[in-house]
Amino acid sequence: MQIYNSLSHKKEDFIPRFSGKVSMYTCGPTVYHYAHIGNLRSYIMEDILEKYLRFSGLDVKRVMNITDVGHLTSDGDTGDDKMLKGARREHKSVMEIAKFYTDAFFKDCAKLNIKTPDVVEPATACIDEFIRVIQSLIEKDFAYEAGGNVYFDTSKLEKYYVFNDFTEEDLAVGVREGVEQDDNKRNKADFALWFTKSKFDAQELKWNSPWGIGYPGWHIECSCISMKHLGEYLDLHCGGIDNAFPHHTNEIAQSEAYLGHKWCNYWFHVHHLNTSSGKMSKSKGEFLTVSLLEEKGYNPLVYRYFCLLSHYRNSLVFSYENLDNAAASFNKLIAKIASLLCENSKGVIDKTSCDSLMKAFTDALDNDLNTSLSITALHDVLKADCSTATKLYLIAEFDKVLGLSLLSSAENFNAQKNSASDNIPQEVLKLAEQRKTARQNKDFALADSIRDQISALGFEIKETRQGTQINRIGQ
Ligand code: AMP
Ligand code: ZN
Repeated sequence: MQIYNSLSHKKEDFIPRFSGKVSMYTCGPTVYHYAHIGNLRSYIMEDILEKYLRFSGLDVKRVMNITDVGHLTSDGDTGDDKMLKGARREHKSVMEIAKFYTDAFFKDCAKLNIKTPDVVEPATACIDEFIRVIQSLIEKDFAYEAGGNVYFDTSKLEKYYVFNDFTEEDLAVGVREGVEQDDNKRNKADFALWFTKSKFDAQELKWNSPWGIGYPGWHIECSCISMKHLGEYLDLHCGGIDNAFPHHTNEIAQSEAYLGHKWCNYWFHVHHLNTSSGKMSKSKGEFLTVSLLEEKGYNPLVYRYFCLLSHYRNSLVFSYENLDNAAASFNKLIAKIASLLCENSKGVIDKTSCDSLMKAFTDALDNDLNTSLSITALHDVLKADCSTATKLYLIAEFDKVLGLSLLSSAENFNAQKNSASDNIPQEVLKLAEQRKTARQNKDFALADSIRDQISALGFEIKETRQGTQINRIGQ
């Protein structure tokens, strides 16, 4: 498989350090609010990557942190702690909201068929690890105490800006615009590993440390949680593109300073989901969550399908119109699979067709996870000139990666159709079929008159996102 590596800025063959095994780390959510569907775009694409690596026969161990302390409203170490802000908003304790929004996050993930990583570790469970690594960084002269806080000294590195070509000047005027000046820092790019003084009084969670009572910075948690569970060499690190700087840049700085060697070989960054007015955020405009989509009548898997239609390295614009188009395509796909399931004779698996259709699918994903082409490969299976058994086998195999519940959705589709038609008189069903033909022929006058006949029999007919629905009037 080839994967675009943000470190080298090019597509590279993905070769894990230890043959057959992949260590994979994902930056988890900051649990001060619900995840928005932009956050979940990142987790969907990372889930596809993990599933595809497994599908290719690799043994993946995936670890994710839960940020429940230390993430300030500005990534540049200033502002309020996001968790504290969330707790104040809801008049609850930090730990109460952490638990509530961690559970909510995994519920959303389950609705979107996102697998829970093998290890999920909250930052507050690893304070001793953070202190141990920070102490070692001080001993190695990569960190210093100033004004009660501990900072990483970026001037000690040969190269700090690993993902891009930022300079200190860019940083001062652009990337960290609006960030308060912290006079304790020796260099502008230095970042906090441990806070005692900064925002200390308001902080609810604090721990003893060699530098006084305080709390960890955000970046140190990912380095330590990754090393704790995956050891000193990491194959693959994932996150949204906004995490590349400063979060991932800082993770690399402190991990490699601590370990004394290269830490992670491949960096996978998912680009943003935007609204027409710009980057999606939790504080701006309509707060788009999975529950909101459900309230509006969308199946969460339609959102997953919508994400798969675009490449993860392109930013994606969310609009209800775009989601409706995805819903229409998804529903047609399910209806076609449903009719395959109803066929009496399914034949046997045709090896030659099966291999070439499978190759189209794996070629797409081997090419830097081209999910949109993998969906084309799925549609091509439905159109292919091969047995139904071949098609159903391939749909089940592809779905191990795509995670769209294709066969179970198709079974539900058939079950609903049967139970609906069980309660509707044959005469009405026949009229509905005639109306469908009239609409296809664009004979709308006839279609309307058939609708009136259906009403006269006590039934109403509606076009919905899921297709035509017939109900008894008043139900
Ligand atoms: P957070 O909960 O803010 O720590 O973010 C969780 C994940 O969502 C991180 O990997 C972010 O990089 C990612 N993320 C944040 N905003 C977006 C967005 N609009 N589109 C895609 N991913 C995002
Ligand atoms: Zn992280």
